[in-house]
Amino acid sequence: MVKICCIGAGYVGGPTMAVIALKCPEIEVAVVDISLQRIAQWNSESLPIFEPGLDEVVKACRGRNLFFSSDVEKHVAEADIVFVSVNTPTKTRGLGAGKAADLTYWESAARMIADVSRSDKIVVEKSTVPVKTAEAIEKILTHNNKGINFQILSNPEFLAEGTAIDDLFKPDRVLIGGRETPDGQRAVASLKAVYAHWVPEDRILTTNLWSAELSKLAANAFLAQRISSVNAMSALCEATGADVSEVAFAIGKDSRIGPRFLNSSVGFGGSCFQKDILNLVYICECNGLAEVASYWKQVVHINDYQKNRFVKRVVSSMFNTVSGKKIAVLGFAFKKDTGDTRETPAIDVCNGLLGDKALLSIYDPQVSEEQIRRDLAMNKFDWDHPQHLQPLSPTASSNSVRVVWDAYEATKDAHGICILTEWDEFRKLDFRKIYAAMQKPAFVFDGRNIVNVDELRDIGFIVYSIGKPLDP
Ligand code: NAD
Repeated sequence: MVKICCIGAGYVGGPTMAVIALKCPEIEVAVVDISLQRIAQWNSESLPIFEPGLDEVVKACRGRNLFFSSDVEKHVAEADIVFVSVNTPTKTRGLGAGKAADLTYWESAARMIADVSRSDKIVVEKSTVPVKTAEAIEKILTHNNKGINFQILSNPEFLAEGTAIDDLFKPDRVLIGGRETPDGQRAVASLKAVYAHWVPEDRILTTNLWSAELSKLAANAFLAQRISSVNAMSALCEATGADVSEVAFAIGKDSRIGPRFLNSSVGFGGSCFQKDILNLVYICECNGLAEVASYWKQVVHINDYQKNRFVKRVVSSMFNTVSGKKIAVLGFAFKKDTGDTRETPAIDVCNGLLGDKALLSIYDPQVSEEQIRRDLAMNKFDWDHPQHLQPLSPTASSNSVRVVWDAYEATKDAHGICILTEWDEFRKLDFRKIYAAMQKPAFVFDGRNIVNVDELRDIGFIVYSIGKPLDP
């Protein structure tokens, strides 16, 4: 029986391994993590992450051929294929701070693999890593000259949170990069055989190691660039009376552009886009490609600009101050169908409003009060000036923030509403009821373009929706 072990039971390791276990019943899959709490949650009824369809997949194979364990070394030692899916955040100090990927967790996992291995292994980069990481990993794995044959593959993950299970069941492509040696190609074939259980052959792409590593950074950079492009256009729409949804629809009809990923919003978030672009910027700089670096940097700049623009719009619309005004924040996760708040634009928007002394009443169906308070109390990392940490939001942990469990409760007595996540339930809210319970004039600031602007204006709201003609 082939044995797979995945180091890192997070948003990627958990769902990807659960799907492999489901689709390959003859393979034993162990997902290991140094976080005892995370492993306990994976073994409980309440999984550590919210992802549609994940519960069912885990329940179908947990205890059969899917195991979650904190005995990292044992499972790594026994495995034929070791996926490494640990976090690779942006470095916050030292060389490359604010841009480069922090590979501390990766290096420590690689050293541990080298120490505990007694048999040949395929080691798979599942985490997103800088191009050329495999070269360093090879050195670490073979440093103790035990004569073990380690083959490194790059198999970046393209799932999107919120649709992870669908993405894993029907991936646009699975990418496997390996060395062009006979051993390297045998390793590629072994991993291909795992995916071939459910992924059509023409969707499994094989490349050299560096192309696979770089493709992941490139894919995220292109996706984020699309969002920043449409968001940049949204500012121009507001200035000219054009409607960004109409513009996006019109340009999306061009088959060379296509309609997907053209929704303008308060900005992109999530643990990957910003981090991976900054990493790309760093790699370009290290390779003497300053012009290319500055091109990609703009994608992040426009995203910051969009978040700031939204806050300014809220404050200026509400007669230039939100001090002492209650503002309902609907949605805190970085997108719908996830409880993940890493790099969510809601953090910047809420902190911006708190900076102007607003009173926030926050509701998100999947994010806990503890998480929201923790996020708002965190120092904001200024990636352009990594040596300067911005001060704590002065009021984030005080009574200026209330976290409630209902959109109607959040909006009661509020002067304004900021919609920051596109949860489906926000589309179905009874805005007449909400309007009746709010202070007047009542404002709606739609950061996700999900409300019907005309309907809300008819009710009496003053409405701002990103990139749409302003309230007359
Ligand atoms: P995560 O933080 O949710 O999970 C990483 C896990 O690794 C944590 O539980 C941590 O405790 C564990 N870990 C760290 N060091 C360890 C070690 N030495 N031994 C055992 N466990 C260890 O991160 P994630 O969101 O799953 O992302 C993992 C990687 O996948 C990152 O490189 C990320 O960029 C990439 N990625 C993420 C997504 C996404 O949507 N989240 C999508 C594609 C790729």
